[in-house]
Amino acid sequence: MIRFDRVAKRYANGHVGLHELSVHVRRGEFLFVTGHSGAGKSTMMRLLLAMERPTAGKLLLAGQDLGKIRNSQIPFLRRQIGVVFQNHQLLFDRSVFENVALPLHILGLSREEINARVSLALERVSLRDKAMQPPSDLSTGQQQRVGIARAIVHQPALLLADEPTGNLDPKLAAEIMAVFEDINRLGTTVIIASHDLALIARMRHRMLTLQRGRLIADGEAV
Ligand code: ADP
Ligand code: ADP
Repeated sequence: MIRFDRVAKRYANGHVGLHELSVHVRRGEFLFVTGHSGAGKSTMMRLLLAMERPTAGKLLLAGQDLGKIRNSQIPFLRRQIGVVFQNHQLLFDRSVFENVALPLHILGLSREEINARVSLALERVSLRDKAMQPPSDLSTGQQQRVGIARAIVHQPALLLADEPTGNLDPKLAAEIMAVFEDINRLGTTVIIASHDLALIARMRHRMLTLQRGRLIADGEAV
């Protein structure tokens, strides 16, 4: 599904986000990306979202060459991807339902279709009973689950999460990771950038370790 082939990213200010990174991710994989601040985790995510372009090498996502993708194709690319942020970025003046429905409005779906997809997404994160409440009525962990529901509501093939448990205590973090595992079991490829090594080690998935833009390990966390 994803192939980084000696992908490098050098920013305009001379900072190197990634040195020649070569990685292959199969459809349906569950992958952690770890490393200290500045290692290149966010750069990897932004390259996959075509927010940045590689300065060298080749990056393929679902057959598309992201170094060559036209700007007009980027919205279509992003419809295949869901993104979960650390600070879930919910709108507090709208209900949980409306927050999750947001990505669907640009797709031009019918009301019934929107209702069905939002209900399904909320079901996946066990929040169906909270649909009509504002996010402010929810706990931190529940709010993060709303962010996940919003990221999967358009049924993306790939789910990216950047430090999704950064603000959560260990118990809540483990719960959120279990939600990602459920989503992965249904076929979605999941890539999570995190530096919570203790949590990652308990989950026994593939882990890429980056250090100053270089891949220094690729394998199950120990
Ligand atoms: P994190 O440690 O959470 O990955 P960073 O501090 O690396 O966060 O980056 C946060 C944001 O700041 C990113 O969107 C990134 O693009 C931007 N950023 C990071 N380093 C620089 C830099 N040297 N110059 C400009 N923007 C930067
Ligand atoms: P991480 O997410 O692992 O903290 P980043 O990908 O944010 O790492 O950063 C990798 C390197 O790229 C760092 O040296 C950072 O300063 C640099 N960098 C990241 N984003 C930018 C940016 N927008 N402009 C310039 N340099 C950046």
